[in-house]
Amino acid sequence: MNVRSTFPPVAAYDPHYDPLVSEGPGQNRAYAPTYWLATAGEPPPADGPITGDVAADVAIVGSGYTGLSCAIFLAREFGIKALVLEANQVAWGCSTRNGGQAQNAAGRLSRSEWIARFGRDVALRLHAEVHDGFETFEELIRSGAIDCEPQRGGHLYIAHRMRSLEKIAAESKVLNEVFGYASRVVSREELRRDFVDEAEAIGAVHEPLGTGVHPAKLAFGYQRMARALGARIHTASPVEQIERRDGIFHLRTPGGTVRARAVGVATGAYTASGLTPHLRGRCMPILSNSIVTRPLTAAELDATGFRTTQVITDTRTLRFYYRKLPDDRVQIGSRSAITGADATHGRHLQLLIDGLHRKFPPLKGIEIDYSWWGWVDVSHDMMPRIFRPEPNTDLVYALGYGGNGVSYSAQAGRRMAQMIARRSFKGEDLPIFTSPLPGHPFAPFRRLGQRMLYRWYHLRDEAA
Ligand SMILES: Cc1cc2nc3c(=O)[nH]c(=O)nc-3n(C[C@H](O)[C@H](O)[C@H](O)COP(=O)(O)OP(=O)(O)OC[C@H]3O[C@@H](n4cnc5c(N)ncnc54)[C@H](O)[C@@H]3O)c2cc1C
Repeated sequence: MNVRSTFPPVAAYDPHYDPLVSEGPGQNRAYAPTYWLATAGEPPPADGPITGDVAADVAIVGSGYTGLSCAIFLAREFGIKALVLEANQVAWGCSTRNGGQAQNAAGRLSRSEWIARFGRDVALRLHAEVHDGFETFEELIRSGAIDCEPQRGGHLYIAHRMRSLEKIAAESKVLNEVFGYASRVVSREELRRDFVDEAEAIGAVHEPLGTGVHPAKLAFGYQRMARALGARIHTASPVEQIERRDGIFHLRTPGGTVRARAVGVATGAYTASGLTPHLRGRCMPILSNSIVTRPLTAAELDATGFRTTQVITDTRTLRFYYRKLPDDRVQIGSRSAITGADATHGRHLQLLIDGLHRKFPPLKGIEIDYSWWGWVDVSHDMMPRIFRPEPNTDLVYALGYGGNGVSYSAQAGRRMAQMIARRSFKGEDLPIFTSPLPGHPFAPFRRLGQRMLYRWYHLRDEAA
């Protein structure tokens, strides 16, 4: 069945949606107004909403990269044709709103922080897992079925202050000497000559793994691949409740109940508190916004010295992430409002525009063609989890990538498929697979803390 769902009618995009306030991500909401949706072409067909009670072996909640990759690996590795349930449109959440920076990372901690927290042995094995995850992601896009305009060559971590350069240079040493991951320090002169003339840059660290992708083309590629392998993807079908009765999961949607032996929860930052008690208060949704300029002229390209299309982040805690897109536009993103209610306030857009101007003075006044935002799934200990909360039950969740999910979500979906199929895999005893997402002792006051932290980070980031 190929249905371009118009039932129920597509509801307007809600710019004020807030996962900590709303009861759920809505039903059949339109996509956010991103550059990616505007340039991805017609979204591929899906299977329309659930219209009656159905049975499935495995049901997956959420059709972002995680849910879709889980469906792909369930079919490819175990012959299981999953049923994917999506509240809105396919990959409506982060997976069509992100910066498209696939990095050799998962979660928000550095490798040194892994060593401090888990010890050297676990840190090395975590590195192997995340590195393998990057390969999983690359293998999916290299297979030829997905054209997501990859911009390969690595990741540039640009220091905006001398003390940040010292810090990332020390981290680069750890990457090389402990993890055997060949990163290197790039001088300001080399950066200007070979990569980009970024006015704030003091120097940089270059990591060899890093691929910029067109996020929506990646998601739609996963979607086509999953459906070609036999998965069904039902849009406009928010799961309102997950209940287990007589050993079978019952997932209630407005159009009918899905009965399934196993469930994969892949709802990212868009997880409603009532979906499952296992995830209540376990994730801190953080807004990130993004803008895309009009294409740069030849003179502007020359003035900004944009010779690279590699993915770039800076060293602020409230970091900027940016790159030159294949059509010579610049995309740049950073943190945004604390609440959905405040998301449309002009100062959040201005923060990005000011950041762009500070980094690239020749672009002062350039037209901004696209502006949007989305919620990032940050876990309370900054590490992701792919976890089965009840050992004898086949419900597995995967989330908490903390703004580093473009590549690792492919691996997380694969691990979730392996856990659902009860197959073992290398590294399955790592803490990201054996411990739940931690809660937060002051969950109701997290946003107060976030507001104070943002002020402190801003002062620290901008101190001379
Ligand atoms: C602005 C922004 C920039 C980012 N930039 C980067 C970047 O450059 N690099 C990087 O690595 N990461 C980045 N990220 C993070 C990255 O996009 C995510 O880690 C990744 O897309 C997560 O995919 P996911 O499938 O887990 O979740 P999502 O893509 O968010 O998908 C979850 C889906 O679940 C659906 N859903 C929720 N509840 C229900 C329900 N009850 N029933 C049915 N469906 C439901 C939602 O509608 C949504 O479509 C960014 C995120 C944002 C918001």
